[in-house]
Formats: sequence, structure tokens, C-alpha cells
Amino acid sequence: TIDHLKGDVTFNNVHFSYESGKPILKNISFEAKAGEKIALVGPTGSGKTTIINLLMRFYELDSGNIKIDGRSISDYQISKLREKIGVVLQDTFLFTGSILENIRYGRLEATDDEVIEAAKLASAHRFIKHLPDKYDTQITGNGSNLSIGQRQLLAIARAVLADSDILILDEATSSIDTKTEIDIQQGLNRLSEGRTSFVIAHRLKTIENADRILVIHQGELIEVGTHTEL
Ligand code: ATP
Repeated sequence: TIDHLKGDVTFNNVHFSYESGKPILKNISFEAKAGEKIALVGPTGSGKTTIINLLMRFYELDSGNIKIDGRSISDYQISKLREKIGVVLQDTFLFTGSILENIRYGRLEATDDEVIEAAKLASAHRFIKHLPDKYDTQITGNGSNLSIGQRQLLAIARAVLADSDILILDEATSSIDTKTEIDIQQGLNRLSEGRTSFVIAHRLKTIENADRILVIHQGELIEVGTHTEL
């Protein structure tokens, strides 16, 4: 594995289209310094997910460049690059198997103790320990026996265990009960501590706490700043 990344991310004059002649991102430039929390906000279809897709190198740019720690992302081996970027999506991929195995998916060589430690840090331990079979609870049907919030907590635990250098968080839009929501926020705060993180933000609180907010509108970055500045 490559050494840890610091997590400086820069987009320089990035232009991108999924289909030729239909520009989706237009001249996007910004800098995220190592450890910063960046909130991406903007209406549906504005291009937030596309920015993340490009950072993960799922597509080639039309022009411009994206750098991590001063080095173009096209100079990194793609598997290593993705290994260093942790993703917590709204709908977590869970497989048939125990909760322990599902968290361990973040780092396959982790011991049981390390999995439980990660779950504690992620604030997932509280709900798991109340399940009759605790960490041996079997997950069925991509997690349909768990609530959306609980599935998110497992995704956070998995990401804690993976210990990636850059994080991508797609904040849930669905309603989650208050207690679980508090756990999720605490888990996410611990997870993002000291790591550059990009949050597709839906909650005002997240936006208020971000070091920088990127406001995207129809593929353009129309404003950058902190909550008080904007
Ligand atoms: P949302 O908040 O709804 O997730 P978003 O801001 O993340 O929206 P994107 O998903 O980045 O927006 O989409 C930006 C534009 O790119 C939209 O017009 C969308 O239709 C288009 N788009 C997204 N993915 C593709 C694709 N694979 N092929 C073609 N067009 C796409």
C-alpha cells in the first residue's frame, strides 16, 4: 500500500461532460486543505455527485486537473487511490453475513477486537449490543432487518476500520429517529476528525460546521466560503 495521503485536494479549471456536447461541470476550481470538512450544497442535478465521481476517478475530465497532495490523480494507481478514499453513502452495501463480518469488510485482516473498537468509535456499539445476537446478528436482504440509521452506523464503523485518508459522506435525506441521529453525528464527527472530508450536505448543522462550503448551481461553483461568510 502507498503511504498515507495528507489529503490536500485541488480542482483546477475542471470541465466535464458525461456525453459530448452536454457540459455538466464548468470550470470548477477549489482547494480543500488537509483535514478540512467541505460541504457540497446545491439543488438536485447541480453536479455534486459528479464532483465526487471525478475525485474517485470514475470518469476522465474534458479538461483541467485534479490533484491530491500536489500530484495529479491520474498519476496514482487507481486501486490505491480508491483505497485511500472512504465512502459513506446513504444506502450502504451490506451482504448476507454477521454484523461483525459486515464491519470487517472495511479491513479484512482486522481482529474481532479491532472491529468492536471501530464500532465503538463509530457509535454503532450501542445499538449492536442491544441486539439478541449482538455482533453475530445475521444481516438479511441487504440489511432490511435493520433501520436506515443502523445501516449508516455500520457504514461509519466500516469506514473507521478502513482508516482512509479522505472521506466522502452522502448525508441521509430520510428521517432517522433522534437517538440514532445523535449517534450518527457523533460517529461521523469522530470519523472525519483530522481527515479531509467532502459531505454532500442536507442538514443545516453540517453546513454550519463545515470549514468551507461549495455552492454548486447548474455545474458551476457559484460561491465558496464559510457559513458566516455566505
Ligand atoms: P442530487 O442531489 O440529485 O444527487 P447532484 O447535484 O449530485 O444531484 P449529479 O448527480 O452530479 O447531481 O448530476 C449532475 C447532472 O449530470 C444531472 O443533470 C444528471 O442528470 C447528469 N448525470 C449524472 N450522471 C450521469 C450519467 N451517468 N450519464 C449522463 N448524465 C448524468
